[in-house]
Amino acid sequence: MKTNVVITGVSGRMGVALLEGVFADEALTLHAAIDRSGSALIGQDAGAQFGLVSGVKVTSDLSAALHGADVLVDFTRPEAAMQYLAACQLAGVQMVIGTTGFTELEKAMIEAASQQNAIVFAPNMSVGVTLLINLVEQAAKVLNEGYDIEVVEMHHRHKVDAPSGTALRLGEAAAQGLGQDLKDCAVYAREGVTGEREAGKIGFATLRGGDVVGDHTVIYAGTGERIEITHKASSRATFALGALRAAKFLSDKKSGLFDMRDVLGFK
Ligand code: NAD
Repeated sequence: MKTNVVITGVSGRMGVALLEGVFADEALTLHAAIDRSGSALIGQDAGAQFGLVSGVKVTSDLSAALHGADVLVDFTRPEAAMQYLAACQLAGVQMVIGTTGFTELEKAMIEAASQQNAIVFAPNMSVGVTLLINLVEQAAKVLNEGYDIEVVEMHHRHKVDAPSGTALRLGEAAAQGLGQDLKDCAVYAREGVTGEREAGKIGFATLRGGDVVGDHTVIYAGTGERIEITHKASSRATFALGALRAAKFLSDKKSGLFDMRDVLGFK
């Protein structure tokens, strides 16, 4: 049976990649395409930008869009995602959340909602990054003494949150490998006379510019050697394909919080 998906933020960079992915996937049906009210796309056919007639018009009417839907896939902004989360809870629709930049409170609300709805929540839906998270944790376990861990990321000039959700997830994986909580060891900024680097801290550096889709490197700097684990995304299709795989994974789930490691069977 096909999975009926709702895509939000269809005017956005990820929204476009997701629509393209749904149209190309025979196991998926585009049930609804949502954008914020006031978007120039409202009322247009969701396939128009690909030269297709899908029969689905872009709408901002959430409750009508969710009726009969299986999974909503959201890559927008935290304030929008929280509204979609509440609506999905009421409508009993499962959710794939790729949006990043949530507060701790919002993350706790997502976790609470997963008692009632099945949710895949991951700051990076690519297969490569999912593998990277495992490698980073393993490397931190082995290099837990005498190595300084730094996470460096670069994204396009339009990105609004920093460090990226993926960089934070990689930091969490490294902290887990060290047997620590990232909250207690993260250093997000350095400026001026900072003093020497403290052992056991995990540093972050954020670069922004151009059209970079997403580069992440975790560096383990020791005495006499340095290990670097890098992932570079060259197209948003990688995130869209992962998110749609997550949507199919949810089609037989009723509740629970999952990440891409569950979807890809890495756990
Ligand atoms: P974008 O700015 O190109 O698109 C954002 C979309 O959200 C637009 O369609 C916009 O209309 C909509 N939107 C914004 N505010 C809204 C609101 N208040 N209500 C309803 N809709 C609203 O952004 P993008 O590059 O497509 O990225 C979107 C999100 O996805 C970001 O949080 C980004 O970090 C995240 N992202 C996650 C992954 C992943 O794998 N998890 C990959 C890429 C991007």
